[in-house]
Amino acid sequence: MDSVTQPMLAVNHVKKTYVGKQRSVEAIADLDFRVEPGELVCVVGPSGAGKTTLLRCIAGLLDVTEGDVQLEGETVTGPPRGMAVVFQEYGRSLFPWMTVRQNVELPLKEKKIKGDERKRLVDEALDAVHLSDSHDAYPWQLSGGMQQRVAIARAVAYEPQVLLMDEPFAAVDAQTRADLEDLVRELWIRLGVTVLFVTHDIDEAVYLGQRVLVLSNRPTIVLEDVAIDLPADRDQLGTRALPRFAELRAHVYGRIQEAKRGVR
Ligand code: ADP
Repeated sequence: MDSVTQPMLAVNHVKKTYVGKQRSVEAIADLDFRVEPGELVCVVGPSGAGKTTLLRCIAGLLDVTEGDVQLEGETVTGPPRGMAVVFQEYGRSLFPWMTVRQNVELPLKEKKIKGDERKRLVDEALDAVHLSDSHDAYPWQLSGGMQQRVAIARAVAYEPQVLLMDEPFAAVDAQTRADLEDLVRELWIRLGVTVLFVTHDIDEAVYLGQRVLVLSNRPTIVLEDVAIDLPADRDQLGTRALPRFAELRAHVYGRIQEAKRGVR
């Protein structure tokens, strides 16, 4: 494949059925989409639509039943080195007995990055999420929003090709959430990383994304791939007040209502 046109991430006709002793659940029927290098793509869908399942398949944490996931042309068969994931439950994703610095540093040690370079990456990442003053704090000494910023710093320090985010702000208050959304846009612009952001929040998806993939009800397919043609320079008040924002929001909302009614 031509390396110029090769997508960063390819989800090729992925199907996922959970097979249990009593019954099987067909979570994903057929998901097929690509994410180009440096894109920020959001995935929205009704609750139970298979968003987390999709993300776990992409992250190599779950086997697909059919199809495959490729990172830069390589089939994903286990957690790839080039991906980092930020989960919703920051409280469970940080080690309480390690300081902020040690938490961010851990994956870099596992990646065998040398001391000086590791220190630089950790410093830069904590600086980027505005936590330069909290290196030596323990996670439980921080607010929820700060803990999630540590989780983001940890992912960023790892310098992934693809950053996967699974409802990362669902458990924080609205004001913190707005700040963290802006932080993600800021980091994305600054670092040029490819981001796949899963959320059930339509406003959040439209505010953040260059594209929004709307998922159907389970068994899941992509109902629509919506291009978000808002100016790249976004801010919480100005962007959300644009008539185009309202149109896009209403459009995605309408598609999700259809998805809930079983339209495919
Ligand atoms: P979402 O993240 O969109 O809310 P999920 O990916 O969590 O959706 O779940 C999709 C469907 O798969 C749901 O019907 C859920 O009950 C089912 N499911 C999720 N995990 C499992 C599992 N480990 N075993 C069986 N069914 C599961």
